[in-house]
Order: sequence, then structure tokens, then C-alpha cells
Amino acid sequence: MALNAFRITEEPYYHSIANEIALFEAAYSARMPMMLKGPTGSGKTRFVEHMAWRLGRPLVTVACHEDMTASDLVGRFLLDAGGTVWHDGPLTQAVRHGGICYLDEIVEARQDTTVVIHPLTDSRRVLPLEKRGELVTAHPDFQLVISYNPGYQSVLKDLKESTKQRFAAIEFGHPSFDAETRIVCTEAEVPEEVAARLVRIAASSRNLKGHGLREGASTRMLIHAARLVARGVALATACDIALVLPITDDADLRDAVRAAIAVAA
Ligand code: ADP
Repeated sequence: MALNAFRITEEPYYHSIANEIALFEAAYSARMPMMLKGPTGSGKTRFVEHMAWRLGRPLVTVACHEDMTASDLVGRFLLDAGGTVWHDGPLTQAVRHGGICYLDEIVEARQDTTVVIHPLTDSRRVLPLEKRGELVTAHPDFQLVISYNPGYQSVLKDLKESTKQRFAAIEFGHPSFDAETRIVCTEAEVPEEVAARLVRIAASSRNLKGHGLREGASTRMLIHAARLVARGVALATACDIALVLPITDDADLRDAVRAAIAVAA
């Protein structure tokens, strides 16, 4: 009852890429902490939404950021008319009531915040609420899932080794040509030939990765471009505003991406 608002009632569309659905099901049945690893826009969030629906579990999502404190995850005392009252944070709610807690972009959170998940990710499966003097034992249905983009890795911003090693990982990359075409077709409701052209364009932008571009165009960007095309925007313009302009601020690099797109289109 407590997590009813977090239940996913309609199937989120997810095009399976390999055997990730079966792997996640096996991991969930062992209540294994999972790391979804891959570049932004590669389907990690959609996948966990789909899995929460498939497993019939509520999904509590937290977008991590650098100002996030442990209290934002576990909860805090708040003042109201009757005095101070404890409010469970999103992680505590999932732990107590048996949801899947998805910490999106965990690497954005400071390391002292991240360590609160440690006792939850080993055989103890407990969450200490220090301020409240309570040790919450995880509900049998609780699972912890994090997303992690290895592309942003730097010495300053990385997961502690002791955190990483608590998770099993599923890797997300760019889908195959056919799979990505299908995804773009379905999500943007465009004809297959439009989706296929955009996927070819994305492939050429991805070749520029490492030559100045940190990441090539994501599936998310292709869907944006396709949605504009579906609303009558010319393909070249749609690519410019959905792919080229957001991906880099460097004028020379933009020209290189535009040139690659022109060849592919
Ligand atoms: P991430 O969490 O990896 O940043 P998302 O899950 O938000 O990425 O994916 C971005 C968008 O791309 C989704 O909203 C969805 O439209 C689409 N998408 C990517 N991969 C898939 C997939 N395998 N099946 C269905 N949609 C996908």
C-alpha cells in the first residue's frame, strides 16, 4: 500500500537487445544489487521501468546529484505543528516496503553519501537510520539498482572500488542497426525509412567519438530528431537541433558532425 504511487501499471515499451531481461530476472530473484552501465540515453532507465513492471514491483527512482546528502536518501526529522516528525526518504521507503530503488547516475553523488548503501548491498540487507537510532531490515522484495556512465569517469568522480564491487552489472551500448531502427520507429512514430536514415546518421556521429566528441549521438537524441521530422521539420534541420547543437559547443567539431551527417543522409 505504502508504495502504490510508485507502481507501474502500463507496460513501458522496451526493445530487448540481448538476454538482459532474463539476466535481470535471475538477479532479482537472488535480490542481487545491480549496476546498469552505459552511456546516457542508451535505455537504462527505460529498462529498469520495464523490469519493475514485469516483476510487479514498485519503482522508486532518485536522480543523484552532487549536493545530495545521505538525509535526502534515508530521511530526516521535519518540524510540523505537533513537533518534529520523522519522514522516510525514498531509499528508506523502498527498503521498508519492498520496492526497487533506482539510483540514477550514482556517480554524481558524493562518496560519503554513497556509502549509506553499503550495508544494504551485502548479506546484512539493513539500512541504519543513525539520526533516528533505527536499523531497518530490508523487505524481502527490496532490490537496489544503480546506473553508471563509465564515459564520465574521472579520478575525482568515480565510484569507490568498495562500492563498485557490491554490484553485478549489465552493459548497455548502442543497439544494432535493426534494433535501434525499431526503437526509433516505435517511440517517435515515424516510418521505418526515416528511422533507418537517422540510425545511419547516428552511426557516423559515433565514429567521431574520441576525435573530440566525448560521446556519439544517443538513441534518445535520434528519437528527438525523429519526433521533429514527424511534425514536419526537414531532416537536416531536425538533425541540427536535436543532434549537432546539443552534442558539442565547439564550432569546428559541429562542422565535422554536420559533414558526417550529410554523407550519411
Ligand atoms: P538512460 O537511462 O540510459 O540515460 P533512457 O532509458 O532514458 O536512457 O533512454 C532514452 C530514451 O531512449 C528512452 O526514453 C526510450 O525512448 C529510448 N530507448 C533507448 N533504448 C531503448 C530500448 N531498448 N527500448 C525502448 N526504448 C529505448
